[in-house]
Amino acid sequence: MNNLMVELGTKRSIIRELFEYSKKMKQLYGEDKVYDFSIGNPSVATPSEIDGQIIDLVKNDNQVHGYTSSVGNVDVRDAIAKDLNSRYHTSYTKDNLYMTCGASSAIAIALKAVVSKDSDVVLAIAPYFPEYKVYAMGAGAIFRVVSADMDNFGLNINELEKCVNENTIVVIINSPNNPSGNVYSKEEIEEVASFLLKKEKEYGHDIYILCDEPYREIVYDGINLAHIPSIYHNTILCYSYSKSLSLPGERIGYILVGQNCNKASEVLAACLGAGRMMGYVCASSLFQKVIAKNASALSDLKVYDENRKLLYEGLTKIGYKCIYPKGAFYLFVKALEDDAYKFMERAKNYNLVLVPSDNFGVKGYMRLAYCVSSQTIINSIPAFEKLYKEYN
Ligand code: PLP
Repeated sequence: MNNLMVELGTKRSIIRELFEYSKKMKQLYGEDKVYDFSIGNPSVATPSEIDGQIIDLVKNDNQVHGYTSSVGNVDVRDAIAKDLNSRYHTSYTKDNLYMTCGASSAIAIALKAVVSKDSDVVLAIAPYFPEYKVYAMGAGAIFRVVSADMDNFGLNINELEKCVNENTIVVIINSPNNPSGNVYSKEEIEEVASFLLKKEKEYGHDIYILCDEPYREIVYDGINLAHIPSIYHNTILCYSYSKSLSLPGERIGYILVGQNCNKASEVLAACLGAGRMMGYVCASSLFQKVIAKNASALSDLKVYDENRKLLYEGLTKIGYKCIYPKGAFYLFVKALEDDAYKFMERAKNYNLVLVPSDNFGVKGYMRLAYCVSSQTIINSIPAFEKLYKEYN
């Protein structure tokens, strides 16, 4: 038996634990009396025409339940390349794309594809999505964390410079960021890109940016999100339809490796190899067919912006401190005591379910997923107020 796997399988992530806790609390107190900000499950519906198309595909497409080619169907990859080209003035083709079971498998596969030695290091920039550590471990890499810029959770280039060395193979960049809600500016990405380019020359090997962007479409106030593959050559982009089309349970996403990546076709072949080794034979056939018809479609995401304002204004008015999120659907709030776990426990007394920040690589904060109904946010504000009073 592999004890590490037993440990990973038995020790649930704190987010999952809180999600289960809140389900129990809702049974006890009623749905509307528990304010569950634990999990990033989209609250907006999948576009209704997609539900119609699914029924139609199941009824009329006799290939719908069959295996697809490992890399994914041609038509879905064509449709995605066309959509990306229209947005970013790029010239991607189906050959730059590999369909995956969401971003999780895309990241795990991409890391496995490029990590080749025990000494290879994967860097994540705090605060970061905790599963990166598991995927880096799965790839056989050493996982290291670049400290956060605690002023605004921007990219801390000085810290990155301290962490990159000849063993660095991958730097993971997640923007819009889970958990901070920050969006890195084009200038920040350009600074990282020119630094990594310099380091590639110095060390004589490729350093990849793994750009994890499941929240790409959830950006506010007209911010233009930088397309990292157009800025840095060795970028492997991992995308998911979990958030943009509210399809997290359907497990569909992709890996994009642009033509400007060194040995692009080999990198993509390595992704296929890694997917094969890990048993990801092909992404859902039904949802490849759905995405082929909806490569440019989006759920109605505007409620997230409304929720962002409601929650930010509600909490800062009380006295809580947090940065105003520019993207994704998370608010990263300073806990009212140093130990975020203790704060989480005290918040539970008010039926507030909040995630402590320690697993995201930063201490003393709480992550609030505001992909909930606006009414939940409105109802939760008095509970936040009572919690605040307990500390003041
Ligand atoms: N990356 C980040 C930053 C996430 O927040 C998530 C899910 O919440 C994922 C990756 C995994 O997404 P998927 O559902 O596509 O596996």
